[in-house]
Amino acid sequence: MKPQDMPLEVWEALCRKCGKCCTEKVDIDDVIYMSKKYCRFLDKDTMQCGVYEDRHVAEPGCMTVPQGVKAGIFPADCPYVQTVEGYVPAVEEWNDPAIDQAIREILGDDALDD
Ligand code: SF4
Ligand code: SF4
Repeated sequence: MKPQDMPLEVWEALCRKCGKCCTEKVDIDDVIYMSKKYCRFLDKDTMQCGVYEDRHVAEPGCMTVPQGVKAGIFPADCPYVQTVEGYVPAVEEWNDPAIDQAIREILGDDALDD
């Protein structure tokens, strides 16, 4: 079944609640890197959004799935991108101190802390 044909509750149930799309991302040279800094509205114990019904108002940077796909904020294992041809996922792991440094400068010193 195509995503657009799914009932909303089926579509929403695809989410594994990993919270990765609710982290701050940094674009460095057109590569999207995933920090470990979560949106202030994400409950890190449950990985649930605390303002889900009003999320796009409460957090204007909160993206819809189509927006997030376009921006590349989803990780490779997110169910919503499995059938998106040519999707380039956000980078979750790297071994480059320069990238660490750039992300910390943009998001703060705790941006990569677990
Ligand atoms: S990355 Fe995908 S599976 Fe994880 S919380 Fe976001 S939408 Fe759900
Ligand atoms: S407002 Fe958006 S980005 Fe923030 S926790 Fe809720 S769903 Fe995630």
